[in-house]
Amino acid sequence: MNKLANTKVFKYNGRRDTLISEKNVSIGEGYFTVFAGPCALETPEIALKTAQAVERCGASVFRSSLFKPRTSPYSYQGFGLDGVEILRTIRRETNLLLETEILTIDQLNVLADEVDILRVGSRNMDNYELLKEVGKTNKPIILKRNMSATLEEFLLAAEYILSVGNEKVILCERGIRTFETYTRNTLDILAVPSLKELTHLPVIVDPSHSSGKSSLVPAASKAAIAAGADGILIEVHPDPLTAFSDGHQSIDIPSFDKLMKELFKLAKVLGKKTPDPVLS
Ligand code: PEP
Ligand code: MN
Repeated sequence: MNKLANTKVFKYNGRRDTLISEKNVSIGEGYFTVFAGPCALETPEIALKTAQAVERCGASVFRSSLFKPRTSPYSYQGFGLDGVEILRTIRRETNLLLETEILTIDQLNVLADEVDILRVGSRNMDNYELLKEVGKTNKPIILKRNMSATLEEFLLAAEYILSVGNEKVILCERGIRTFETYTRNTLDILAVPSLKELTHLPVIVDPSHSSGKSSLVPAASKAAIAAGADGILIEVHPDPLTAFSDGHQSIDIPSFDKLMKELFKLAKVLGKKTPDPVLS
């Protein structure tokens, strides 16, 4: 971890953990924050229904992607820029913050004004030009760990963002590639306390892409909070079997509701603050 000496991400003795306050939402030090929504934007109806449901259950941020980096070029590539209208509707109809993935600098220029939080996905963790560009914005950035990145490489990628002035970086552990194939990736759960030792930045976990199986998402989420994560980024869909992408790892709304109740109970035991759920 030699390269981390003298970096801005490094947690020196006595350095307080970073707290990101964006509008009415707190992320980091002392809080457990939930970023929830579908893998991809599909239709306005599904998006709004999901957003209203996750808000009712206590999520603070609506996650969704307009552009999908899919392994196959023939898989659903996303709603594209027309999805901006859907995001505007969700902004009008809920109090959720909005986040989305940006794949290119061109998309950044268009989407930065439409969302509250930008996401750099695992495949772009080492796209240094993109990292420097998001570093020039004043938006919080969710930076997902590349599936083959060491923690040092992950933190140095975050440093690209901090080095040009944006200190609002949220690190996301989303599973790494190992020899195991039962799960889509292997959730590196000890990345959470390890990162919390090394950096002051908030650390969240993606239980959906790390497990690849909806049946394992609740356990991965609970492991995340127990390991000290500051939140989760989770895929929720009203009808996962019909989802255009990642339905097998998306949980439905009743399952999300149940999980949120369990997570908020755990948060209380662990002394983490959570928002008050909007009562249905
Ligand atoms: C996502 O969160 O939508 C996603 C594509 O995940 P990852 O970049 O971790 O594969
Ligand atoms: Mn997905």
